[in-house]
Amino acid sequence: MNVTEKLLHRQKMTKEDFITLLGFSENPEIKEQLREEALRLRKKYYGTKVFTRGLIEFTNYCKNNCYYCGIRGGNRNAVRYRLSREEILACCQEGYGLGFRTFVLQGGEDPFYTDDVIASLVREIKKSYPDCALTLSIGEKSLESYRLFREAGADRYLLRHETADEEHYRQLHPDKMRLENRKRCLWNLKSLGYQVGAGMMVGSPGQSIHTLAEDLLFLQDLQPQMAGLGPFIPHHDTVFAKEPAGSVELTLYLLSLVRILLPEVLLPATTALGTLDPSGREKGLMYGANVVMPNLSPLKNRRQYELYDHKICTGEEAAECRSCLERRVNAAGFTLVSERGDAWQPAEEV
Ligand code: SAH
Repeated sequence: MNVTEKLLHRQKMTKEDFITLLGFSENPEIKEQLREEALRLRKKYYGTKVFTRGLIEFTNYCKNNCYYCGIRGGNRNAVRYRLSREEILACCQEGYGLGFRTFVLQGGEDPFYTDDVIASLVREIKKSYPDCALTLSIGEKSLESYRLFREAGADRYLLRHETADEEHYRQLHPDKMRLENRKRCLWNLKSLGYQVGAGMMVGSPGQSIHTLAEDLLFLQDLQPQMAGLGPFIPHHDTVFAKEPAGSVELTLYLLSLVRILLPEVLLPATTALGTLDPSGREKGLMYGANVVMPNLSPLKNRRQYELYDHKICTGEEAAECRSCLERRVNAAGFTLVSERGDAWQPAEEV
């Protein structure tokens, strides 16, 4: 059995297998074969549905200093903001009216929002919108903090592992951030019953076929319900300002690999993909993605959540963002739905 057949038959893949597969990323026949299989699987589990998440970027303060990120703590040129409780709730209210049934609270690691503040925010949102899922994406916390948020009602947690290769991780992060810790956080989140999202940038400085193979191995091992994959894009106020952006084509290839590796995964066509290519998100859907994440943050702060340069969708109201995406999704032959959009699970046994 060759390596593509092994993947297609859901056999456990080795690092060598992934390296071989990654080597085919520019082989048009194999790329098309995997794309078709990715599309078949997403249709098997999710039909033509595309789930939508209302992204609320509630703070751009961050105590970390990830070298690739525009809102890293050390960037003195970043204009910082925090949303108040009332502003966050207003985003949810607007989002609910627009048909969002998942809210994602994302931010830098900002100690201003203590665990108790986050927990009470989660409780309040879940009380006001009991039919909605709530996702947190606020970085590395202790098991106890994650438990507190979970008990408050948080359903999902996004924490990209960024790279599963030790040496590469050290190239992307200051010494006090550890891959080991990041991975531990993901396992902790899983043990608490969150739907968990891991993932990596494609084309980050220092990335190679070997580090990507480690990423795929880690995803295979963790079996996350969600995976976030977007191209790296340089930000002018980082040490990687002059580095080239990741490749759209490689990102698309990886989307289909991940769809086949984790057939039921919730896989967004990311804003970063749409930033590098005007039809990047539509292409993402054609390669197996089944989620889009339009922005619900207040217009006045959109530009300030600048993870990378030229980020799209920073100039439109939430309603415009949603209807623009709806048009794009429909044009690509899919259907944007107003559902929580949980990960597919086998029917419960009775
Ligand atoms: N503080 C949270 C949220 C981080 S921002 C956390 O640690 O999880 C969300 C994601 O944006 C990051 O996980 C990273 O993968 C991505 N990102 C950051 N800078 C980027 C860049 N320059 N290009 C592309 N993606 C980037």
